Amino acid sequence: MPTHDPKPVVAVLGGGQLGRMLGLAGVPMGVSFRFLDPSPEAGAARVGELVVGALGDPEAVAAVAAGVDAVTYEWEGVPAAVVRPLVAAGVAVWPPPDALEASQDRLVEKQLFGSLGIPVAEFAPVDDGASMATARAAVGSRAVLKTRQGGYDGKGQVAIDESSDVDAAVGQLAPAGPLILEQFVDFDRELSIVAVRGRSGEVRCWPLVENEHRDVILRTSIAPAPDSARLQPAAERAIGAIMERFDYVGVLTLELFQVGDQLLASEMAPRVHNSGHWTIEGAVTSQFENHIRAILGWPLGSTEPIGTSAMVNCIGALPDPAAVLAVPGAHLHRYGKAPRPGRKVGHVTVVAAEPGELEDRLSRLRAALPADEG
Ligand code: AMP
Repeated sequence: MPTHDPKPVVAVLGGGQLGRMLGLAGVPMGVSFRFLDPSPEAGAARVGELVVGALGDPEAVAAVAAGVDAVTYEWEGVPAAVVRPLVAAGVAVWPPPDALEASQDRLVEKQLFGSLGIPVAEFAPVDDGASMATARAAVGSRAVLKTRQGGYDGKGQVAIDESSDVDAAVGQLAPAGPLILEQFVDFDRELSIVAVRGRSGEVRCWPLVENEHRDVILRTSIAPAPDSARLQPAAERAIGAIMERFDYVGVLTLELFQVGDQLLASEMAPRVHNSGHWTIEGAVTSQFENHIRAILGWPLGSTEPIGTSAMVNCIGALPDPAAVLAVPGAHLHRYGKAPRPGRKVGHVTVVAAEPGELEDRLSRLRAALPADEG
């Protein structure tokens, strides 16, 4: 049931920057937040009540969920087994735990895409040296070996080619659990689509975003992705099919490889996503606001872009605010995290009326950022 509580409360499992930005979007609508995070330093504490506890601890999760209008997560590592009892007890938990669970296993996720007719690169499970030989025969010699569970931002993966010592690669990753071998995709570029589905089943999609990674961490997103209008329908069909399968509520992200005119699904995230941060200033309604609207059963807002945007992550170091904000159209977000090499500590979104202006502003922004943020 949609809530008419004048001051609904949302429990968020995870209190990092995604939780903080959910709070920043929800507070103006009169929503209060309770975050569960293992760190007393969690950045979301600035926008709601912080409960310090483990995200895998059923008692801590049950305590933070007590009496709230909806429970959601900003970290997809939350064990589905911890949130299922809440659903059984009648708590509104969105996105559905089944989607959360599917996203936690690269093999299950790829099989899901395949079952929905969404194109994916070749893949095969790997459990040991023998299955690696079978997998290589199926997938080809240029491949990426990954842990099925727990890897993100390039952690838990090894590139394989003709000359690789595959036994060593399996030996390196296998202690972390079962593996998957994925065909290496010689993509033209990486894209993502972020969409939201309301409790009524209404789906809205933001335009495709072009993502550039550095050292396997997202560095820059351009939205809308240049020359992507003809790809948008296929991306919307793919993410719509996944949402339909789970009777999904909330924001879902699908990461894609573009090869020619084809989109291959790479992975999904059942949550607001780094490649959707541009929507805060660059779209009529942000991913964060629409996620809150969706999980509370409220009408969704327009996902139309406002002009064109670029989002640059601040990795390992924060820029000088004055230098960044001197760039026209630039908006600075600092997450309140201590800088460490490879850590996302903030982002800057720059908006412009048209692509030429965006390019100009983006090069000015790059000049204002630290030369190499780790
Ligand atoms: P992931 O952790 O699966 O999101 O992978 C992180 C990044 O590694 C992706 O955004 C790609 O840049 C690269 N990558 C992952 N899998 C593949 C693949 N099968 N082929 C080519 N590049 C890949």
